[in-house]
Amino acid sequence: MADAKIRLYVDQPLGPGQPVTLNADQAHYLFSVMRLGVGAFLLLFNGRDGEWRAEVTSAARKAGTLTCEAQTAPLRMPPDLWLLFAPIKKARTDFIVEKAAEMGAARIIPVQTRFTNADRIRQDRLQAHAVEAAEQCGGTFVPEVADLVPLDRLLADWPQDRKILWCNEHLAGVAEALPKAGTPGPWAILIGPEGGFSEAEQTRLAAMPQVVQASLGPRILRADTAAVAALALWQTLLGDWA
Ligand code: SAH
Repeated sequence: MADAKIRLYVDQPLGPGQPVTLNADQAHYLFSVMRLGVGAFLLLFNGRDGEWRAEVTSAARKAGTLTCEAQTAPLRMPPDLWLLFAPIKKARTDFIVEKAAEMGAARIIPVQTRFTNADRIRQDRLQAHAVEAAEQCGGTFVPEVADLVPLDRLLADWPQDRKILWCNEHLAGVAEALPKAGTPGPWAILIGPEGGFSEAEQTRLAAMPQVVQASLGPRILRADTAAVAALALWQTLLGDWA
């Protein structure tokens, strides 16, 4: 059997003998860039049905068909963890989404805070980054990237049972505020923008019963570093690294 190292996300059902129709971009990638031809094998996932080995059954420049053969991995869901972060510069925002998908966030929610410089995001582009990250890290699940939402509005309807790990830069260096292993369950991590959180935001967060304030060590981290550090900590203490 030809090797099956290429992993491709497709938004179509996968199952035994299931045909998969490629769009022009996918056909271009597989046949022109990766030079696959009829009879080659690759791995597919759709975020729902696990990972499948599939064979190329027809190949043209802008179209093609694959046929699923056998499941190679079941669907592996990440823990029920959301990442809330204030978008920063484009490349750093892309980085946060990519890393959150690799690190096993179930949902990624860009939030607009008082000191967030972005007032819109390209949700489709960020979602594509999450797909690419899942393709390359062996994931069978793709976290949804939500559209930008004002933090105030998100907090106004915040679920009673979902805790928020608020990474609060004012606690930098406070050893007692390092996150501790606690009750697993639905959580969200909240990372602020380069300008930090406003007084009003801090007051509001501090008053919410779902909020657990945390330090990420003695140094002030950039928001992208803070997001990855917080995800690693949470996965170690409460998630699927434990
Ligand atoms: N301008 C702010 C720093 C913001 S850093 C200041 O100088 O105080 C961006 C975000 O990363 C913060 O809002 C916080 O969520 C997180 N962060 C960075 N370093 C942190 C630390 N040591 N502890 C907790 N959170 C931190």
